Amino acid sequence: MRYLSTRGSAPPARFSDILLEGLAPDGGLYVPEHWPRADLAAWRGLSYPALACEVLAPFMDDVPRLRQIVARTYTKDVFGSDEITPLRTLAPGLCLLGLSGGPTLAFKDLALQLLGNLFEDALAARGETLTILGATSGDTGSAAEYALRGKRGIRVFMLSPHGRMSEFQRAQMYSLADPNIHNLAVRGTFDDCQDLVKAVNADAEFKARHRIGAVNSINWARIAAQAVYYFKGWFAATAAGAGRVSFAVPTGNFGNLYAGYVARAMGLPVHRLILATNENDVLDEFFRTGRYRPRRQAQATSSPSMDITRASNFERYVYDLVGRDGARVAALWRALEASGELDLSGLRDRIAASGIASGRSTHADRIATIRAVHADYGVVIDPHTADGVGVAARLREPGETVVCLETAHPAKFAPTIREALGREPERPRGYEALESLPQRFQVIDPDPEALKRLIAGTGQA
Ligand SMILES: *Cc1c(COP(=O)(O)O)cnc(C)c1O
Repeated sequence: MRYLSTRGSAPPARFSDILLEGLAPDGGLYVPEHWPRADLAAWRGLSYPALACEVLAPFMDDVPRLRQIVARTYTKDVFGSDEITPLRTLAPGLCLLGLSGGPTLAFKDLALQLLGNLFEDALAARGETLTILGATSGDTGSAAEYALRGKRGIRVFMLSPHGRMSEFQRAQMYSLADPNIHNLAVRGTFDDCQDLVKAVNADAEFKARHRIGAVNSINWARIAAQAVYYFKGWFAATAAGAGRVSFAVPTGNFGNLYAGYVARAMGLPVHRLILATNENDVLDEFFRTGRYRPRRQAQATSSPSMDITRASNFERYVYDLVGRDGARVAALWRALEASGELDLSGLRDRIAASGIASGRSTHADRIATIRAVHADYGVVIDPHTADGVGVAARLREPGETVVCLETAHPAKFAPTIREALGREPERPRGYEALESLPQRFQVIDPDPEALKRLIAGTGQA
């Protein structure tokens, strides 16, 4: 498989070239040159790792040990069940696809656990090392750390805003004792953390010398890994008798929804992809109006992992929307930077034809949905999942089965669960005493030069 840039002027690349890269050199995002065809008849009934191999093989055709890597990644030991992503039917036409069985109790583990193993394999083959520098306000940082802990040749420096994460999230990250994991609590906000990452990356010489990389949500391997559970969920729902199957997807960066788009582009007969945003509704606005207007500032909400100002993966969707015309995408993004807006309302028909419905969910909706799902089915869902379930309940058509993606375990968001249900969410086994484990982190000032000295002075574990 060759990968092209959405802006059309970077040279085509192979998967192993883009695995460790972020943006293409022309500022675009990499997309596969064509969509491989799914073989639904042959894939039905496969175990999760076997299915993952089939879905991923055409995208990763230059990874010689893919089968072993995938088999090592998707195990009951890591994800808590043999199904990896178990489907639960709540009512006729309404299911939950459990994506939060991984070590950090959120769906990001499904992609990042694979990424960690792909990185380790690629670095060992090339005899190289890698320094991952990232900023997190919650789920991504811990999923990345749990995926990269103890990996040979990889050091992780994860910046987080000092004193601003939930107790659970802090304990989850800071209790890791692996010598290759470095938690840096920045005296400042999440934006300060992101600015630090940018400042270090802007020093090209430093970046090259220390092989600084990222694991952000535009990484193609993450998207491909997420496409797998759409297949798994569709097979499980149709085996249980569903006819028209749609997915309800809580999304912020458009990563989770775009993975569903990829599955459908490969031939999975998904009826609709139902996109759900929180109060940060850039994407909902786009699918209603055809106008994309990234915001200056994100609003802090009770589904915090979807608090974004711009949807990084959205450019990949627009690339297909304009007929895979890279020059057109480059011009659109120049206009976006100049005017702060992308007006694609002229393509309304094409947008509608892509089968994406959308809705927005507020704090009150979230609380009401958590209550209703608990009262009706005895199941506790997390606030992000509630955004999806709430929007799905409003938009569901007669005869449609909606598979709602369960993106996090409620234990991660106890204050919102307390507000909705008046009690603590249950903790999964092994997480009961998380906050009492010893924590290891270093508090730093938001000073790029000091951060560079710290990275340069820290040895390879
Ligand atoms: C990251 C995250 C999302 C949104 O994922 P996108 O990649 O932005 O689509 C939703 N729910 C949870 C719990 C998350 O951690």
